[in-house]
Amino acid sequence: MEHIKNSTKLIGIKDLNIKISIVLKHQTRIEIRAELDYPAPACPHCQGKMIKYDFQRPSTIPILDVQGMATVLKLRKRRFQCKVCRRVSVAKTSLVKKHCQISQPVWAKITQLLIEKQTNMDIAKRLHVSVSTVQRQLNAFTLKENFKTLPEILSWDEFARNKGKLAFIAQDFETLRLFLTVSTLRSTLVEP
Ligand SMILES: [Zn+2]
Repeated sequence: MEHIKNSTKLIGIKDLNIKISIVLKHQTRIEIRAELDYPAPACPHCQGKMIKYDFQRPSTIPILDVQGMATVLKLRKRRFQCKVCRRVSVAKTSLVKKHCQISQPVWAKITQLLIEKQTNMDIAKRLHVSVSTVQRQLNAFTLKENFKTLPEILSWDEFARNKGKLAFIAQDFETLRLFLTVSTLRSTLVEP
């Protein structure tokens, strides 16, 4: 059990450096404007002292639905400038991976729904992402050759995916961690 103390955590955002500034409820969607900010770290290029600079223009990040409505986070990220080498760096967050606009809670939900055997199209519709995004998550499961660490109890199942093609999954019975998915085209071992 976790005691949730703030509204960012309530909507699935764990990064406490993200602060909500305003929430707008439109006809069919919710827009949450927020800022990512924290004290200036050392310069990633020269380790020199950085100072706060300005904010990047907002990036639009889909998060999980709030009140059953499609919800986006308009996130402005702090920029820092190095006083030594003058280079500018953007604040980092665990919410989104580098060069990615889909938030981690959405990726986690895609994974969960894939395990629950929902079709790519249903998942895409439910989470307001493209079918190719869902496919990308399926493909992102990386292959590991090492099978030495198989779980004590392994459960597996076969199921129909995408127009009746058969697929196979294996997962740790206790932790539900996905171990292996095999579609008709490829086989992949899944990272947690
Ligand atoms: Zn520097």
